[in-house]
Amino acid sequence: MTRQAGPLQVEEIRELVAGVPDPEMPMVNLADLGILRDVGRDDAGAVTVTITPTYSGCPALDTIRDDIRARLAEHGETRVAVRTELSPAWSTDRISAEGRRKLAAHGIAPPPERAPRPGAGHTFVPLSVRCPNCGALETRELSPFGSTACKALYVCTACREPFDRVKPL
Ligand SMILES: [Zn+2]
Repeated sequence: MTRQAGPLQVEEIRELVAGVPDPEMPMVNLADLGILRDVGRDDAGAVTVTITPTYSGCPALDTIRDDIRARLAEHGETRVAVRTELSPAWSTDRISAEGRRKLAAHGIAPPPERAPRPGAGHTFVPLSVRCPNCGALETRELSPFGSTACKALYVCTACREPFDRVKPL
């Protein structure tokens, strides 16, 4: 680190927070999931991080808050408030292309992308769920509850591998 001592720039803070891994799916970070909304610093120097949590009631929220504070404290930022903003609500649409790629690379089927339908707002395209293991589309849901509340358990009828899928929301 060659940067000069002193308070971090807002952009540097944003980068640090963006890189905090999701506690339930550590292969993706808060930016990949679209959880990080805003970062700011007030005139008194205090930092405010605004996040929109994923599934409501996700027990991961407290962990995320602690992780953000810990990450920034490592860089000398100790006056940090983490604010949650629930509106507009988080949806799986906020997961970035990079986030979807990382999920698939770790054997988790990403949620479907929503396509706009004229006059009907947004709706899910009823695409088959692709097996992240072999790529087959012949998959079926075993249980709406996977390893966490945010995921459903699927099985591939081609390679017979079970896998988690992030539920669309
Ligand atoms: Zn398969």
